[in-house]
Amino acid sequence: MAFLDIFKYKTFEHGIHLKDSKDRTCDQAIRRLPFSPILIVPLSQHFGKPAKSIVRKGQEVVRGEVIAQSDGFMSVPIHAPASGKIKEIELFPTARGPKTESIVIETWAGASQRLGQTEANNISQMSREELIQAVQNTGMVGLGGAGFPTHVKLSVPEGYSIDTLVVNGCECEPYLTTDHRLMLEHPQELLQGINMLMKTLGAKQAIIGIEDNKMDAINAIKNQLSGFESIHVKVVKTHYPQGSEKLLIKVLLGREVPSGGFPYQVGVVVQNIATLRQLGVLLPNNQGLIERVITVTGPGVKKPGNYLVPLGTPIRFLLDYVGFSGTANHLILGGPMMGSTVSSLDVPITKPVSGLLVFNEQSVEKETGEIYPCIKCARCVEACPMFLNPSMLGQLAAKREYESMQEDYNLMDCFECGCCSYVCPSNIPLVQYFRISKSVMRERAVSQ
Ligand code: SF4
Ligand code: SF4
Repeated sequence: MAFLDIFKYKTFEHGIHLKDSKDRTCDQAIRRLPFSPILIVPLSQHFGKPAKSIVRKGQEVVRGEVIAQSDGFMSVPIHAPASGKIKEIELFPTARGPKTESIVIETWAGASQRLGQTEANNISQMSREELIQAVQNTGMVGLGGAGFPTHVKLSVPEGYSIDTLVVNGCECEPYLTTDHRLMLEHPQELLQGINMLMKTLGAKQAIIGIEDNKMDAINAIKNQLSGFESIHVKVVKTHYPQGSEKLLIKVLLGREVPSGGFPYQVGVVVQNIATLRQLGVLLPNNQGLIERVITVTGPGVKKPGNYLVPLGTPIRFLLDYVGFSGTANHLILGGPMMGSTVSSLDVPITKPVSGLLVFNEQSVEKETGEIYPCIKCARCVEACPMFLNPSMLGQLAAKREYESMQEDYNLMDCFECGCCSYVCPSNIPLVQYFRISKSVMRERAVSQ
């Protein structure tokens, strides 16, 4: 990139610059992972009500078949990631923490794993309501990490209309390269998915925002844009957390989502690359989500890369396949800034998991460092992209003054990007405090 190019792309105020650590996987083409002998498929892989199992122990299932139905609107169905036999339905640990009821499938060794037959959807003939229902039937949730059911995001409340679909191609978390590879390898499927969702939303345009560290992906998409006149690509500066919905909308469209509000209030819906590309494949074929691409990497991983992984694959199987030197003593599902640390190798890959990062003892930084008192340096304030006061919020969290955190300091505007914790010289785990405080406030709201 020319020297002056670094000044020409837009970004937001505050945030941090991180070493992107993507070089070990960004050039690795997507490879299919073999089927694990056992798949552990949690009924709750999404934000909202868990799905309801419709299978029993001993039953044989075919790859792609519905094995759990959605339980209401704020829920999605689950499909069998492989053909096999139901071994048990038991509680298992997940990336979300608590043990969750999960369907365990013993996969058939040597089976073709051909997908079950489905009747194709005629997208051009479908109404908006039918399209939203079809999206729910795929079991699709935000594959960027949020796990929010996609059909719910598409069901814009009455009185609002959407003019722009913003496509998040930033992939601003270090290490992760799945969206990068999907843009490079499957631009047509991505553009089809964007087109279908524009139709569902009634949006007149889509803007794909991509950070300037992925120029090859930007060119790959631009080369395929003929016939997609309403879809535009905009390059943004590489800057963490550029992929946050509100920040991306501000940078791409200059619109400000109100505090505590939602993108639809400014005429926008945001979806990420992996979600749209997958919908581009699943929606016309009326198929369910049974696999996803994840980045597997870390200092000791022998075969780092981007793998197409059947949902439910235990981390143990994945690690055995990619190989690891040293002791894998720190595992993160997702990116290092917003992902979840997991302690059990039985935890499976689920729908929102975009990466598996494996660190050995030497590479674990700052994690177990001692916590010191706040020295009022204001680095956290300068880093917060939402213009919050993390130092004050941290002090209130320590005193459990949650109401004041929300009413006086807009706690709910924190989207847990981790910038404040990252820059804090006193090692104060601010983002962890805010996660706990927000969940306490949510529980209080539900019980009132
Ligand atoms: S975690 Fe929350 S408070 Fe901390 S920088 Fe990010 S948005 Fe601001
Ligand atoms: S960065 Fe840490 S030490 Fe500095 S003001 Fe914020 S909380 Fe205090």
